[in-house]
Amino acid sequence: MGCRFDVTVVAENSNFGNEYISLAINEIERIEKLISEWDSESQTSAINKNAGISPVKVDKELFDLIDRATKISKLTDGAFDISFAAIDKVWIFDGSMTKKPSDDEIKKSVEKVGYQNIILDKEKSTVFLKLEGMKIGFGAIGKGYAADKAKALLIEKGVNAGIINASGDLNAWGKQPNGEDWMVAITNPLNKTKVFAWLPVYNGAVVTSGNYEKYVVFDSIRYSHIIDPRTGYPSAGVESVTIFTTNAEFADALATSVFVMGVETGLNFINQLNGVECIIIDDGNKIHTSKNIDLNKTNN
Ligand code: ADP
Ligand code: MG
Repeated sequence: MGCRFDVTVVAENSNFGNEYISLAINEIERIEKLISEWDSESQTSAINKNAGISPVKVDKELFDLIDRATKISKLTDGAFDISFAAIDKVWIFDGSMTKKPSDDEIKKSVEKVGYQNIILDKEKSTVFLKLEGMKIGFGAIGKGYAADKAKALLIEKGVNAGIINASGDLNAWGKQPNGEDWMVAITNPLNKTKVFAWLPVYNGAVVTSGNYEKYVVFDSIRYSHIIDPRTGYPSAGVESVTIFTTNAEFADALATSVFVMGVETGLNFINQLNGVECIIIDDGNKIHTSKNIDLNKTNN
């Protein structure tokens, strides 16, 4: 999944605890096999290889994930789009880029992007990418999905409390052994030792998208790894977005979406959703919160 997972469980003893942790890790690895666009054997790769050629039959689980992802695309007006992946050929964040792609290259890259061209057939459980060269990828939703599944599995096994932590994206349930809520520290992305708020997480996810870990710099301008699928350009103006909601998959996708939307549109959008809150830090280091978060009331 390209990130580190830490699993915390509350259990009767360490033997049980370790067993539960192994179950969670197996589940995360199983999901990685299903959704990885890098593993040439995965069902996701089969879909990508057959872009413009033919529909591919996939497991219901993958079908449903893609179905939900395209619904989030509709909800966000295309700010979130798993078919953004074709842009991968233009913006590469592994240190290998030596110059900014040309406007022409960028324009061309988005021709192959568009969730409207992901054709789903529920009855046959097939996925078809209509255009040759199209690609899907779960970079912005897969971690959250895996965290939800690992959590659900542990709850089913009778684990009353725990945290699935995917590189800082938390999905928690139950309470600490001393009966207190799990607490999450919200830090300033530019200075991670500076905590500006502690918030309780009862049964839900706290997911952050930021531009401070994966980016490229050309002419002193920082281009983030979160890209507006409609233009092909990395989004600007936002330093980080943290989303609070019950479901980690949705939180993961929304963090990316709000990043693309920017502060004003992003806040308006989140304020219209029930049970979802967010904290946005803009590139001037100013903090913006959705309507039900009051940072002054939290115990710093
Ligand atoms: P992080 O890796 O910081 O948790 P995200 O969850 O926002 O960040 O995922 C970013 C990844 O999602 C990118 O590296 C890329 O693979 C993919 N991505 C980038 N832009 C979009 C987008 N607009 N819609 C969907 N996926 C995207
Ligand atoms: Mg995300």
